[in-house]
Amino acid sequence: MIVLNGKGVFGGVAIGKLSLYQKQQHQIKRYHVEDADAEIARFEEAKKGTLVQLQELYNKALKEVGEANAAIFEVHQMMVEDLDYIESIINMINTQNVNAEYAVATTGDNFAEMFASMDDAYMKERSADVKDISERIISVLSNATKSTVDSDEPVIILAEDLAPSETVQLDKDKVLAFVTKFGSSNSHTAILARTMNIPALISVDVDLTEELNGRMAIADGFTGTVYLDPDEETLKKMQEKRAKDLEKKELLLQLKGKENVTLDGKSINIYANIGNVSDVANVLQNDAGGVGLFRSEFLYLETTDYPTEEEQFQSYKAVAERMAGKKVIIRTLDIGADKQVDYFNMDKEENPALGYRAIRICLDRIDIFKTQLRALYRASAYGKISIMFPMIISVEEVREIKKIVEEVKAELRDLGIPFDDCELGIMIETPAAVMVSDLLAKEVEFFSIGTNDLTQYTLAIDRQNPKLDKIYNPHHTAVLRMIKMVADNAHANGIWMGICGELGADLELTETFLAMGIDELSVSPSLILGLRKKVRETNVDAVKDALLDRLK
Ligand code: PEP
Ligand code: MG
Repeated sequence: MIVLNGKGVFGGVAIGKLSLYQKQQHQIKRYHVEDADAEIARFEEAKKGTLVQLQELYNKALKEVGEANAAIFEVHQMMVEDLDYIESIINMINTQNVNAEYAVATTGDNFAEMFASMDDAYMKERSADVKDISERIISVLSNATKSTVDSDEPVIILAEDLAPSETVQLDKDKVLAFVTKFGSSNSHTAILARTMNIPALISVDVDLTEELNGRMAIADGFTGTVYLDPDEETLKKMQEKRAKDLEKKELLLQLKGKENVTLDGKSINIYANIGNVSDVANVLQNDAGGVGLFRSEFLYLETTDYPTEEEQFQSYKAVAERMAGKKVIIRTLDIGADKQVDYFNMDKEENPALGYRAIRICLDRIDIFKTQLRALYRASAYGKISIMFPMIISVEEVREIKKIVEEVKAELRDLGIPFDDCELGIMIETPAAVMVSDLLAKEVEFFSIGTNDLTQYTLAIDRQNPKLDKIYNPHHTAVLRMIKMVADNAHANGIWMGICGELGADLELTETFLAMGIDELSVSPSLILGLRKKVRETNVDAVKDALLDRLK
C-alpha cells in the first residue's frame, strides 16, 4: 500500500479504481494562411460553436448544481465575446497571416499570463478560465471530441488539474471522487465538487503515470489522503468510515428545505459563516437561511496591497447576488491580533489581542474604513446586505461609526450611486460591550455575539495559546451568563440577536440558546443541517426553566 498526502476540499470517502483523466491535448502548429479573411471567418464560426457549447453546459449545470454555480459558464460566454480578446486574435491573423488555432492559443496564453500576474485573487483565478475557453475554441476549430470518463464503472478521477467546464462535463454518476495534483480550494472546480457532493482532494503528491490507471485506491476527502493498493485492514477501516459518513449525510439531506423549528414550535434562523465569495456554493448546498458572518478581512489577507473599492465591491456584490435576496451580514475589517497583514505596516505589540485591531484601526485610518463602506453600500443595491462592526467597546464608538456611515451615504447620494439602507449591527465580543448592551441596543438594529473573542476576553485566556487550550472553556458560566444578558438586553430594546462564534454550532448548548430566545445561530456551512436536526428534536418549554436556573 502506498499513502499519498494532499488536501481535502470536500469530505467523504471514495473506494474504487483510479482513472487517469486525459486532457484533450491540442498540438498547435503555426502555419501560414494566404487568405486572412477566410481564416477570420473560420474563427468567427468556431466562436459561434463555442458559445453554443457553453450555453449547453450552462443549461446542464443549471439543472445539476443550480444557478449560482452555473454562472461560471455565463462568465465564459462573456470572455469568448470579450472585444480585447477577439481583437487580439483577429489582429494576429491579419498582420501575421497565421492560422486561427495558433492565434487563439497565443492570445489565450498572453491573457492567462496577464491575469495570473494580477494581485487580485479573483482575477488571478480567471487565468485558468481564459485558458479553458481558448482550448474550447481550438477544439471546435479542430472538430475534436469531448473528454469523457473512459470506464463503465464509477471511478476516482485522477488529474493534473480540472477546469470547471471539464468537471461539469464529467458524468456525475461515474465519478466517485476528484483527486488532483494541482488546483486551489477556491477554484470553481472545488466549488463544483462540493456542490455535486463528491469528495475532492487537491495538491496530492503524486506523479501521474499511465500505470496508475485502473489501480485500486481509497480517497479520503476528510484527511486529504489517498491509499493506493490499500491493504485489507485499511480497506475495512475506510469502508466503515464511508458507511458512517454516507448514513449521516443521507439523513441530514432529508432536512433540506425543512424549517428550523423546535418540537414546541419555536423557530430560529440558521445562517452560515464565510470567508470569501467561493464559500457561497457550500452555503446554498447546505440550505442556510442567509450569511451570518462574512469575515471581510480575508479579502485583505489574500492580497499584497489594500484591496481597492472596486475589488471589494465585486466580492460583496457577488455574495449578495448569489444569496438571491437572503440576508448577508458582512463584518467590516477585523485585522490585527492573529490576523496580520504586511502592507498595513503595523508596529509590533506586546499584547496584540488587546491592541490596535479591528474597529480601532478603522476609526483611526478612516480612509481605509470609508473605502470599505463605499464598496459595501454600492453592493447593497444587488441584494440584502447588513453591515456589522467588530470589537466594539462603547456607545461613543458606535456613534462615531454611524457618523462616518452617514458621510459615506451622502457621498454616494451626491454621485447618484444607488444603495440600500443597510441594517447596521455590532459584534458583542468584549465584556465591556456586554455590560453596556442595554445602551448599545438603542444604537443599532442587531447584535451578533463573537464567542471566540468573548471567551478569550472574559476568561483572560489567549485563544491562540495552545498551552491554555484545556482551560479555554466557552461553556464557563461567566460566558453563558453574558450571552443571556445580551439576549435579554437586545429583546428588551426590540432588536434581534445571534451568535456567530464557534459556540453557535455547539450542539450541547443548542437547547440553552433556544431557551434564551436567541434569534440566529451562524455556523460553518457543513454544520447547518446537523444543527437543524438538533433544533427540530428539541422541546424548549420542557427544559427551559432547568437550563436557565443553571445560569442564576
Ligand atoms: C468571534 O470572535 O467569535 C468571531 C466570530 O470573530 P473571529 O473569530 O473572526 O474573531
Ligand atoms: Mg472576534
